[in-house]
Amino acid sequence: MAEIKKLAESRDLTRIERIGAHSHIRGLGLDTTLEARTASEGMVGQLPARRAAGLILQLVREGRIAGRAVLLAGQPGTGKTAIAMGLAKSLGLETPFATLSASELFSLEFSKTEALTQAFRKAIGVRIKEEAEVIEGEVVEITVDRPAAGGAAAKTGKLTLKTTDMETVYELGGKMIEALTREKVQSGDVVALDKASGKVTKLGRSIGRSRDYDAVGPHTKFVRCPEGELQKRKEVVHCVTLHEIDVINSRTQGFLALFTGDTGEIRAEVREQIDTKVAEWREEGKAEIIPGVLFIDEVHMLDIECFSFLNRALENEMAPILVIATNRGITNIRGTNYRSPHGIPADFLDRLLIISTQPYTEEEIRQILDIRCEEEDVEMSKDAKVLLTKIGVETSLRYAIHLITAAALACQKRKGKIVEMEDISRVYQLFLDVKRSTQYLMEYQNEYMFNEVPRDADETE
Ligand code: ATP
Repeated sequence: MAEIKKLAESRDLTRIERIGAHSHIRGLGLDTTLEARTASEGMVGQLPARRAAGLILQLVREGRIAGRAVLLAGQPGTGKTAIAMGLAKSLGLETPFATLSASELFSLEFSKTEALTQAFRKAIGVRIKEEAEVIEGEVVEITVDRPAAGGAAAKTGKLTLKTTDMETVYELGGKMIEALTREKVQSGDVVALDKASGKVTKLGRSIGRSRDYDAVGPHTKFVRCPEGELQKRKEVVHCVTLHEIDVINSRTQGFLALFTGDTGEIRAEVREQIDTKVAEWREEGKAEIIPGVLFIDEVHMLDIECFSFLNRALENEMAPILVIATNRGITNIRGTNYRSPHGIPADFLDRLLIISTQPYTEEEIRQILDIRCEEEDVEMSKDAKVLLTKIGVETSLRYAIHLITAAALACQKRKGKIVEMEDISRVYQLFLDVKRSTQYLMEYQNEYMFNEVPRDADETE
């Protein structure tokens, strides 16, 4: 299956983890009874919202979420994205998490429904299982019969493998022989040979008797086989998203398009073929669907067409868990003259389980900043942390989080090891928060182009 091999390559590359805004979130931080712990798995406070998310988790696990979506409503920076990500992480390591900001739909070069379809398929994982035949054993003797003539015939040979109770002679192909030579396999080594790929893995030196090895790689499992039998089955698992399969099959440049992001519009026939293939694999027990979490932020920016798309998409049996978020109150439904709560049409509101998030207390801000310092590997003095927390309370949590990296750079520049108050003050002066930036604009508005803010005289009128 050449296609699946390519998938594995692409997945390995995408798995490289970076420090991102939410990389400290490792789950919802709930205990076994789904109660929220004050601070756990990178999550701090926001207890009622996390408890509610825990119930959603239970609904998902019991398969009772179909046709419904979750709305996270709350002020900016109150952890809506963090909770959605925590939900995905709590569902399992392989659960895909896709995010989309509703305003992106209006700036892409393809249609809104295509962009939404791609987002949905990025949040649907496929776990593909492949079985490979593996021979494992202790090398007692290697006999390679190479005819003197060379050529293709020279790439064959025989390997004698011996375990405590039996001895077997294997015919080897060229790839295996090359690998054996490269790995310098000698008598007394224990090796695993993958008959299909020719891969040879040296498992170690024998300590006198043959041993059972549980794993030769991250996803490789030896299945215990009947006594005396050397053949073992190895299960290789690849986890990819439906979108990744779509992209690989829709373009000549294959999986590279995944990195450039230049995936273009994917034809409906390609998706149909892939859905049929995946359905076949599922029937044969070769694949499993892992519904992930699709998070759509700024949902008030969606228009009426997008909402009807979402209404339909939620009915699909493979639908991911849809979590939407907004920080707006009552506003216009885009594309209509009607106003509604969060700018969401009544029929869609009816499908929603609504969770609200609350602003953080000073202590919670301090704890979140602490976690972020650790995540970014930044050492900060106690005083500096107190100052940064104060800034977080006065401005916003997000602004304070952004200052961590900047302050660490300022500290590095003065050749310091620990971020001190002076570094925090320095970057606080260099980068404006929203409040100060607005104030600055009010003061210097006349010097900007297209100034539309009313002058004092107009305001008094
Ligand atoms: P917006 O409405 O602007 O999109 P939001 O509500 O989605 O904001 P987040 O982006 O989730 O807010 O939060 C801002 C930052 O604070 C992120 O780095 C997030 O990981 C972190 N954060 C927020 N809440 C928590 C929390 N309860 N525990 C730990 N970290 C948090």
